[in-house]
Amino acid sequence: MKKHRVVIVGGGFGGVKAALELAGDDRFSVTLITTSPDFTYYPSLYHTALGGRRAGSIIPLSDFFEGKGLTVIVDPAETVDRKAKTITTKSGEKAPYDSAIFALGVITNYFGIPGLEEFSFGIKSDKEIKEFKKHLHTQLINEMKPDLNYVVVGGGPTGIELAGALPGYLKHIMKLHGIRGRAVHVDLVEANPRLLPRLPRDAGRVIKRRLRHLGVKVYTNARVEGASADALTVSGKPIQSHTVIWTAGVTNHPFFTANGFTIAKNGKVAVDIYQRTEPDMYVIGDNANTPYSGMAQTAVEDAKQVAANLRRVVTGRPLKEYKVHEPWSVIPVGHRWAAAMRGGFRTYGLLGAFLRRASDFVAFHDYQPFIEAGHQWAQQFGQEESCDHCRRQFAGDELKTPW
Ligand SMILES: Cc1cc2nc3c(=O)[nH]c(=O)nc-3n(C[C@H](O)[C@H](O)[C@H](O)COP(=O)(O)OP(=O)(O)OC[C@H]3O[C@@H](n4cnc5c(N)ncnc54)[C@H](O)[C@@H]3O)c2cc1C
Repeated sequence: MKKHRVVIVGGGFGGVKAALELAGDDRFSVTLITTSPDFTYYPSLYHTALGGRRAGSIIPLSDFFEGKGLTVIVDPAETVDRKAKTITTKSGEKAPYDSAIFALGVITNYFGIPGLEEFSFGIKSDKEIKEFKKHLHTQLINEMKPDLNYVVVGGGPTGIELAGALPGYLKHIMKLHGIRGRAVHVDLVEANPRLLPRLPRDAGRVIKRRLRHLGVKVYTNARVEGASADALTVSGKPIQSHTVIWTAGVTNHPFFTANGFTIAKNGKVAVDIYQRTEPDMYVIGDNANTPYSGMAQTAVEDAKQVAANLRRVVTGRPLKEYKVHEPWSVIPVGHRWAAAMRGGFRTYGLLGAFLRRASDFVAFHDYQPFIEAGHQWAQQFGQEESCDHCRRQFAGDELKTPW
């Protein structure tokens, strides 16, 4: 029997899950096109940026796919030929499909703010966190004192997690570098009137209190207008800093406009009740205009539902409508404290931190069998420094992990 050819574009949360759902089924031949041989576990990237193990966030795709019989092409997809039903990569390789699934994720948006791209750090990829970490340590080596201010821009989950863990990490590495008695200043800047504008108001208030308790200065209604090598301009006033971390903006992947996809008003790809954007073309995860797009659990859920529908396609059954699942929001803020919420439920503190640990395990178990998921989960607990000076000092000086 001729196999149904599925080409999946994007090796992140949605794409890898869709590949795993279909790869074991011999009615399908599955090809995954992606940009990197590794999977990035974004939720713990901020932890890796602040002394956590790289292996806790960056996982080789081969760990998931070994023996699964699918084809992985590490080369960015560039064009779709709808007539010939092929996807072509940057180096010209063509992948023919009967059904295609797109899950390319989002990219950073600097909103055209002058100097920001040049003078800010990001924590959205392995490369970005390496640069950020190197900067923190090099600065301590060269100047033997912390920066005047460390400024995190963006009062969403990523900015909050980073700002909450940063004071503790800075104190830890200052100690390792032999710098004592210096205060660190961490600012969190948000343009909206409150933190977490997409989540309930009370959660934003509690988290703001928690951040203040950790010594983080929170500025709301504060608009970033420009950045230079020495300062960030916020609502007309400069904040002196050489360490600005931009977490405040993302935009949909340019692949979709470049290839003539139908784009909704919010910039995401318009999809129907089956997550199709056109016949035989499905869009999932961050790229799709669905109610909870922008969260890892949504991408996983989307992938499961599209895979289930493709099984219907090959057996000639009608497709099932997309079911919306409200994901949990779990946001760690400093050591052994997290806010966890879903619907009307909220919990803050140690129980939240426990739920965060549990949700990490569940997330890994979505991709790996129980034992392997446990090994991967355990990577979240270790510490690792690439700075030679810190590595020499490490023994006996344990960093409190941020959750
Ligand atoms: C720092 C950070 C922290 C986060 N924390 C959380 C959290 O705690 N909880 C939560 O629910 N969500 C969190 N998210 C959001 C979550 O990670 C995303 O919603 C999820 O990754 C979306 O999955 P996706 O498959 O749509 O895209 P991604 O996981 O981003 O995957 C996209 C993939 O496409 C690949 N790609 C890009 N361009 C091309 C191309 N041209 N051709 C082929 N492949 C390409 C990329 O390399 C990547 O592998 C976080 C995001 C970030 C950035």
